Amino acid sequence: MNLILLGAPGAGKGTQAELLVKKLSIPAISTGNMLREAIANGTELGKKAKQFMDEGALVPDELILGIIGDRVAQSDCAKGFILDGVPRTLAQAEALEAKGIRIDHVVSIEVDDSVIEGRMTGRRVCGKCGASYHVVANPPKVDGVCDSCGSELVIRKDDKPETVRKRLEVYHATTEVLKDFYGKLGRLCVVNGDQSIEGANEDILKAIGAKV
Ligand code: ADP
Ligand code: AMP
Repeated sequence: MNLILLGAPGAGKGTQAELLVKKLSIPAISTGNMLREAIANGTELGKKAKQFMDEGALVPDELILGIIGDRVAQSDCAKGFILDGVPRTLAQAEALEAKGIRIDHVVSIEVDDSVIEGRMTGRRVCGKCGASYHVVANPPKVDGVCDSCGSELVIRKDDKPETVRKRLEVYHATTEVLKDFYGKLGRLCVVNGDQSIEGANEDILKAIGAKV
């Protein structure tokens, strides 16, 4: 089962991806996490991506396509994968099709922009594994510590309100058209992301025809 999670920044893609990994036993691939790791490791990719990310802009398509093609070809993706935050442009979606990367379901997690800012100010992410928490809606068991890997939780630099606003603009201007693209291919399902994390997860499982 090859899935794409689509949605505005803060819609809950990373949170739902983590739950789906456990439920479906396939890996989640987050280009955002891969890029943050590249920045932390000081790689060429990280150096090229950093400024775009800090500004809330999209990283150029050729950099994204370079990392995603290699990643889905790895053996752990043989039974399926969950793409979190990619594709984000029409060119990226078309390139996946052109590479013959089959996509079964595209789940659009929908949350009104007015809800997003509160989610982002409360977001804390694991600096090591990228797991996403919220100080109120989804707190870790131990304050400031990742449940999954025990590393420190940090605030993302691009979660400040002005950068979040810019990222929402980019989403509406450039990424949202992918709903039409995948809708025409008959692969789109829409899920209400403005409900409990568990409720949204159930709706996603139903939408993709998996056991709840
Ligand atoms: P995305 O990957 O789409 O940017 P995240 O999964 O990181 O979004 O979620 C953004 C923030 O919102 C995080 O702090 C997360 O814990 C919180 N969150 C995710 N889903 C919900 C939900 N259904 N209700 C309330 N908060 C949520
Ligand atoms: P995310 O972790 O998905 O919220 O992504 C954080 C940032 O990484 C985005 O604001 C972009 O700058 C960059 N990024 C992640 N994925 C992509 C992508 N598929 N295309 C372009 N930029 C991306």
